[in-house]
Amino acid sequence: MSIVSPERPIVAESGKVRTWLRRIWSGGQIVESCPSWCTDGHHNDGDGMLVDLSHGRDYGGTLLPVFDAKEGTIEMPVLDARISVDPYSDSPERRLPHVVLQPWEDEVMECLDPAAFAAVIAQIRAHCDRLDDVHAALVAARRETASL
Ligand SMILES: [Zn+2]
Repeated sequence: MSIVSPERPIVAESGKVRTWLRRIWSGGQIVESCPSWCTDGHHNDGDGMLVDLSHGRDYGGTLLPVFDAKEGTIEMPVLDARISVDPYSDSPERRLPHVVLQPWEDEVMECLDPAAFAAVIAQIRAHCDRLDDVHAALVAARRETASL
């Protein structure tokens, strides 16, 4: 295992474990290790407050074309998901891997545990089923309009 100590951390990979040396502003340093699923670059994690460290993996969202007064239409991400863990958080929930879900830009549902995330997924899935009903109603409305 190689450990590096640059001004900006270079996360060294040894097998599947990525590690780097981190200076803590309140004093001392610590060797950090990423969980296997972390894909964060940690480019700004060479030093800082102990509690500021997060590991994560972004899964992205789906893009929907929405109206924009300046651009006409822009691609807006919705349901953007990230798995995250804050190993030094004061909150026990944040010290365990959790989902941070952005239902739409600039809004966030923080710290969803597996049960809470499953409930959100079920709610969204149920709404998509209702949207199928709206789609069927739209098709019927178009059919009715065409026959007039
Ligand atoms: Zn990491």
